[in-house]
Amino acid sequence: SSSDSVKVAVRVRPFNQREKNAGSKCVLSMNGSTTVITNPENNDKKTFSFDHSYWSHDSSREDENGVFVPDSSNSNYADQRRVFSDLGQGVLDNAWQGYNAALFAYGQTGAGKSYSMIGYGPNKGIVPITCEELFKAIEDNQDKTKQLQVSFSMLEIYNEQVRDLLVKTKPQAGGLKIRQNPQTGFYVEGLKQVPVRDYNEIEKLMEQGTVNRTTASTNMNATSSRSHMVITIRFAQVFKNADGQSNTRSSDINLVDLAGSERADSTGATGDRLKEGSAINQSLSTLGNVISALADLAMGKKKVLVPYRDSVLTKLLQSALGGNSRTIMIAALSPADINYDETLSTLRYADRAKKIQNKAVVNESPTD
Ligand code: ADP
Ligand code: MG
Repeated sequence: SSSDSVKVAVRVRPFNQREKNAGSKCVLSMNGSTTVITNPENNDKKTFSFDHSYWSHDSSREDENGVFVPDSSNSNYADQRRVFSDLGQGVLDNAWQGYNAALFAYGQTGAGKSYSMIGYGPNKGIVPITCEELFKAIEDNQDKTKQLQVSFSMLEIYNEQVRDLLVKTKPQAGGLKIRQNPQTGFYVEGLKQVPVRDYNEIEKLMEQGTVNRTTASTNMNATSSRSHMVITIRFAQVFKNADGQSNTRSSDINLVDLAGSERADSTGATGDRLKEGSAINQSLSTLGNVISALADLAMGKKKVLVPYRDSVLTKLLQSALGGNSRTIMIAALSPADINYDETLSTLRYADRAKKIQNKAVVNESPTD
């Protein structure tokens, strides 16, 4: 058993068209692991330090295939590969060792969560690259006495209801039920966990799931989503130990693309969307409360109740938050002065998440 703190990365994206049209100024700067945000009203600066600070703001250009490539004049530009090799590769290494791993993306709508996690078109994000690399390593596996199994599930939490994104039929009213197993914790009853043999199968499932994911555009960003998405990759290695007995070493990899962190009113959403926004805030604000409570515990505070049970999201992410998992948060940042308040609150949130201590253990037991 080992105690490890949640690793936190921040990433700033390029200006979007709307920000360019508004003549936006960049309020962020990064140097090594340090991120500085400048208040556009009074030039007041606040400094933060994270495990990784990714500068993906400028000095990138689109090549003929629409792929963002770093401008050779700026070697600091963090592209998708770079983010994968820092974060995704670690997730894979942990999975091979039998540790659970989790990676979740937090931030305002339009700040770049889905870009980092899933990616768009040829700019594949951490999730597809991680899956691709997992199967490459499986194909390279020379130890034929070892059986390797991968399965995939994908769900969304929308208005505190769980929906299986790998099922096309209309979701039943109320969504899928959450149950509790005394040993393994909360799980979603009846969720499809699909065995996959190669990367192409995962890619197809991911495409299908992405199409099924409920989206409601707000005036922040036409591709934004008001739902939380959770992909779980279950990786198992079955092998003979020294006694000739069969053991299974397993790892759950949870990959979470959270809904936008902004308050519903700042997006101009009204009516149904506002209602969605407040229900999503229930999961997100509980996540915030859980993170605060865990940070307090890590600072030595006693008698802290961690309110996992207050939302669907925190029930399902319980092991990833302060439990049996090695966990990474990537906080997506808009560079623009008009988003200063939201960006500062994202930085503060990320700063709190750094303090969480997890206790990951290798999951290995006789094969049943
Ligand atoms: P979110 O999921 O947080 O709502 P998206 O990931 O959809 O935001 O990003 C919003 C827009 O910004 C998309 O058009 C996306 O392609 C672009 N974008 C985000 N991050 C980057 C980045 N690091 N480099 C280039 N474009 C980005
Ligand atoms: Mg998104």
